[in-house]
Amino acid sequence: MDNLSNRKKQALCPVAKKCGGCRYTDTPYKEQLKIKQKRAEQLIKEFGKVKPILGMDEPAHYRNKVHAVFDFQKGKGIVSGIYQEKSHRVVPVEGCLLEEERAGKIILSIRELAKSFKIKAYDEDSGYGLLRHVLVRVGHATGEIMVVLVLGSPVLPSKKNFVNELCKLHPEITTILINVNNKRTSMVLGAKEQVIYGKGYIEDVLCGKRFKISAKSFYQVNSVQTEVLYRQAAQYAGLTGKETVVDAYCGIGTIALSVAEQAGKVIGVELNGDAVRDAVANAKRNQIKNADFYQNDAGRFLTQMAEAGEKVDVVFMDPPRSGSTKEFLDALIRISPKRVVYISCEPQTLARDLQYLTANSGYRMEEAVPVDMFPFTEEIEMVCLLSQKKGKG
Ligand code: SAH
Repeated sequence: MDNLSNRKKQALCPVAKKCGGCRYTDTPYKEQLKIKQKRAEQLIKEFGKVKPILGMDEPAHYRNKVHAVFDFQKGKGIVSGIYQEKSHRVVPVEGCLLEEERAGKIILSIRELAKSFKIKAYDEDSGYGLLRHVLVRVGHATGEIMVVLVLGSPVLPSKKNFVNELCKLHPEITTILINVNNKRTSMVLGAKEQVIYGKGYIEDVLCGKRFKISAKSFYQVNSVQTEVLYRQAAQYAGLTGKETVVDAYCGIGTIALSVAEQAGKVIGVELNGDAVRDAVANAKRNQIKNADFYQNDAGRFLTQMAEAGEKVDVVFMDPPRSGSTKEFLDALIRISPKRVVYISCEPQTLARDLQYLTANSGYRMEEAVPVDMFPFTEEIEMVCLLSQKKGKG
C-alpha cells in the first residue's frame, strides 16, 4: 500500500495534473488520512468530538462506477477519458488509479470496437456523431457488471454484432443498456434507456443484504468503505428492535434495509423515482416487511410527518453535497427524534447544518467519525451522531 503511495505523481498517474480528480497521487496514504483528519477537525470540532478517520487497507481501484467520455481527436481518432479539470477538453485515459480495473478494461475494448464498427464519437459542439459516454458499474461482491452506452441518438448500428463482440471479449458483463442523451448538458445520462443485453440492472451485496441497482440510481462508489460507514452509522443509531426509523435521502434503500431487522419499522424517502423503485424491490428481495419507501423531497416529506404528528425515534440523513435544507432541519426539530445520524459527503455543508441545528434546537453533536470513502482525492465523508441535550427538546 505505502509502496504504491510513496511513488511519484508521474509514475502513479500520467494524467493526474490534467484530470484534477486526484489531489494526493504523490502523497503517502497515511499522510492523506492525516490531512483529511485535520480538515474534518477544523470544520467540525467546535460541535463535538471527532474520532480518528477510518481508512482503507488497500486504497487503490476502489471505484465501482466508472465513467468515460468519448471524443474524436485529430491524429488520434476516437479517444476515451475524462474532462480536463474545469473544461470540456477530453484527456485520453488508459487506466486510472481509482477505478475498478475490470471496468477500465471494458472501456478500452469499447474504444477499439467503436473503431472497427465505425461508430463515431459524439461532438458536443455540433451534435454530430453517436457515442458520448460509457458508464460501467461493477457489483463488488457479486461481480455482476453493467455497461451503459450513452448515445446522442437512439440507434446503434449493428447493435447485435456489437453486443456479441463486446460480450465475447468480456464474458463478465451481465447487462448492457443504451441511454439516449441528445441534450447540451453536463449530465451524463439522459432520460430514455433501452436494455440491449441481460436484465437491465446489476445486483450487489452490502451488509449481508442484496441490492438491485439501476443505471440512474445512486449507489455508493466505494463498497468496502460503505460497509465501514454503515456499520458506524448503525452503531450510532443504537437500535433495539422497537424504533421507528426514517432514512432520509435513502437512494436505493441501503441504509434503511441494512438496519430494518434491528428496528420496529423503517421509512425511506428519496427524490429519484428509479432509486425508490429499486428500494421497494430491494425490500422484497430481502424479505423485509417493515420498510416503506416514498418518492418525495426529503424536506417536504419530513414536514408532512411533523404536521401529522408522527413519532420517530431515529433519523438517518445522508443528503447530497449541497447538504440538507432549512425546511428539513425545521421539521427534524419539530419531530424531535432521540437520535439523528447525519452522514455527509461535504463537511462544509455538514458544519453549516450543525450550526443551524445547535443554534435552533436542543441537539448537540456527540461524536463524529470521518470515513475515507475516496482515497487520493480531497473528498471527505463523515458520519456523526446528534442527540438532544438533557433537560431540553
Ligand atoms: N443513503 C443513500 C444515498 C445517499 S446520496 C446511500 O448511502 O446510498 C443522496 C441521495 O439523495 C441521492 O440518492 C439523491 O437522489 C437524493 N436526493 C437529492 N436531493 C434530494 C431531496 N431534496 N429529497 C430527497 N432525496 C434527495
